[in-house]
Amino acid sequence: MLVLLRKGVPETVAGDVAERLRMFGLAVHRTDHDGQVRLGAIGDAAQVDWDAVGAWDGVAELRRIPVPFKLVSRAFHPHDTIISVGRCAIGSGQLALMAGPCAIEGEEQAFRIAEAVASAGATIMRGGAYKPRTSPYSFQGLGEEGLKILRRAADAHGLAVVSEVMDSQQVPLVARYADILQVGARNMQNYSLLREVGHAEKPVLLKRGLASTIEEWLMSAEHIVSQGNSQVVLCERGIRTFETYTRNTLDLNAIPVVKELSHLPVIVDPSHGTGIRNKVAPMARAAIAAGADGLIIEVHHDPDHALSDGPQSLFPEQYAELVQQIRTIAKVLGRTL
Ligand code: PEP
Ligand code: MN
Repeated sequence: MLVLLRKGVPETVAGDVAERLRMFGLAVHRTDHDGQVRLGAIGDAAQVDWDAVGAWDGVAELRRIPVPFKLVSRAFHPHDTIISVGRCAIGSGQLALMAGPCAIEGEEQAFRIAEAVASAGATIMRGGAYKPRTSPYSFQGLGEEGLKILRRAADAHGLAVVSEVMDSQQVPLVARYADILQVGARNMQNYSLLREVGHAEKPVLLKRGLASTIEEWLMSAEHIVSQGNSQVVLCERGIRTFETYTRNTLDLNAIPVVKELSHLPVIVDPSHGTGIRNKVAPMARAAIAAGADGLIIEVHHDPDHALSDGPQSLFPEQYAELVQQIRTIAKVLGRTL
């Protein structure tokens, strides 16, 4: 239930209402909008005498939140959430450009790619150190050494860092090096991992599961936010369909759908969404045109020898050209880089 307080209600009254709701065993999440305190009261609402709550001092209105994802819904929090990471305000008018290799392979590779993506205009460097690979015989990532290299390469070029965390026990370690914790598509419904990143003091990039509906994806975001971490960036990265020409089917419908349902920023990963180098730029342009708040793109200076996802990695020059095109599209839409 959403409990809207009277505008200008004293803090003591707002605190009292929240406390009394907690006494019903409800979790209370507060957000302020247009000078009004909004309390999201989550839990077993059937036990509560809502007519009585409606008459409490300071309470202006009660509203049901008509969707199962409560805290991430626009019904609870009408304005866009903006998440500041390094020089970027994700979810603002400024587009978030994240780029880098699929996996960190070594010092030279990481520094070379960091320089290339920074000079093209990216503000956040991606790079996996713990890789979820389909085959146990494929390169699994450099682990902590990879995180150290990624951090140094990003710092050398003024970039923030996003990197994947594969299990709940890894969260403190990855959080030491990364500015954004990436939860991968395969882990979107790993609820113990979602709980753990929900306790972390770092933004989370939550990728959509390979076969997850938009509602399931938003419910996974709800798991994180309900633990106290409201800094969640959603990432559409393609879903499994009957189509096999591309690696996945990039669901750009999800962008306007999520934008209407949720206040969280949503970015697009056209690299995993297509799996094919020359399909990445067209889908990146389309994603921004559809209203995405940013892009995460794989870039490699020598993709033929990349240890993972070479076929979908852009050459640095291709990435630089794409950023110029994104700049033009952004202008038309009243957005900036
Ligand atoms: C990745 O970003 O390299 C990755 C493994 O992505 P996803 O979880 O979307 O497959
Ligand atoms: Mn990859």
